[in-house]
Amino acid sequence: MSSELSTDVLIVGAGVAGLWLNARLRRLGYSTLVVERGALGGGQTLKSQGIIHGGAKYALHGALTGASEAIADMPRRWREALAGTGELDLSGVRLLSEAHYLWSPGTLAGNLTSFFASKAVRGRVDQVKGEQLPPALQDPGFKGKVYRLAELVVDVPSLLARLAELAGDGLLAGEHIEPLRENAELVGLRVDGRAIRAQRIVLSAGGGTQALLQALGLEQPAMQTRPLHMVLAKGPSLKPLYAHCLGGGPKPRITVTTHPAADGQWVWYLGGDIAEADGVAREPAEQIAVAQHEIAKLLPWVDLREVRWATLRVDRAEPAQSGLVRPDNAFLADQQRLLVGWPTKLALAPDFADRVIAALQRDSLKPGPVAPLPPLPRPPLAQPIWEQLLP
Ligand code: FAD
Repeated sequence: MSSELSTDVLIVGAGVAGLWLNARLRRLGYSTLVVERGALGGGQTLKSQGIIHGGAKYALHGALTGASEAIADMPRRWREALAGTGELDLSGVRLLSEAHYLWSPGTLAGNLTSFFASKAVRGRVDQVKGEQLPPALQDPGFKGKVYRLAELVVDVPSLLARLAELAGDGLLAGEHIEPLRENAELVGLRVDGRAIRAQRIVLSAGGGTQALLQALGLEQPAMQTRPLHMVLAKGPSLKPLYAHCLGGGPKPRITVTTHPAADGQWVWYLGGDIAEADGVAREPAEQIAVAQHEIAKLLPWVDLREVRWATLRVDRAEPAQSGLVRPDNAFLADQQRLLVGWPTKLALAPDFADRVIAALQRDSLKPGPVAPLPPLPRPPLAQPIWEQLLP
């Protein structure tokens, strides 16, 4: 195997967490290398809905806690990055929607009362009507109320392409990972037999992190996965819609985002309550039938005759939680050279990077000399899921 490599920070996992962190560290002058066993973003990131939450959804039942203040700042940080003036230059990444909407089909005063009572939401929500409504809701038959949230929706495939560009030569396709130890101390990793020394090792491998910890002989931090059963719909009659539709429960009944397919049609990607527990238990055909019924009930003017449907099962990976409390900020644990974490949301990738950088600064780890890397096998970019499932 080729000669040993060395880098300041070795990152395992090229989802949004690893790639965003990598780009931030490179900007600060650190040498970095990101190892990915599959396609870039092909874990959860590419399957996400791309909503840059500001925490509004979590205020629905007063569940927004102090820790959610980090999330409240995410739309601003992403907006600046997308404009090319922020912590990363993400100019060129496609913004799908300037806003995400909250849509109440009509009878949910209780939900909305607690929502608007929340401090986190005050001043960040406006009701919209008429021509300001999202295109898919502009129909004389529409009777509900719609509020504009200060959240945006990004096109994740173009985000991943840009983050891969910012990674320069620092991407390595690699599958088999073992610890590299010296005098019983972890000094790096061996990736497909190639020794890579690093000042710090970051595991940001999403659902793969638990197995990586085991390979290093570690059990902590513990991880949990949360299964989802998402629905995709593609057809000429679908118009853009980015909205949480409120139901009676604490979670949005359905969360719709809309994505451009290569053939010019729009794809609706449906999550929220429909994709959780009951949805997970359903077989794909049954899950599609429920989604069709929901859309027919909520948006009866949408012609579904030429729409094609698919479902996608995917697990969210997060730090293990006690009780039912949802993590609402990025999580990072560190022990000596090893840092392990989950952003818990695409939106929180900047917060995840902040936490790693704070740990490096706490340890006074300064960028070392940057030696050019030899040509390395590069992981491919992942294909959008709608192109995979509804070509
Ligand atoms: P991942 O994207 O899963 O990346 C981990 C990477 O590590 C993968 O590429 C994987 O191949 C690689 N890997 C794993 N094991 C190894 C190994 N041993 N060696 C090398 N590489 C390895 N968040 C939001 O903020 N907004 C949303 O709208 C939203 N919608 C979502 C919708 C769905 C259906 C899902 C599932 C999640 C959604 N999320 C959303 C959450 C968000 O997608 C995740 O929190 C985020 O993408 C996690 O990023 P990550 O980089 O930690 O993980």
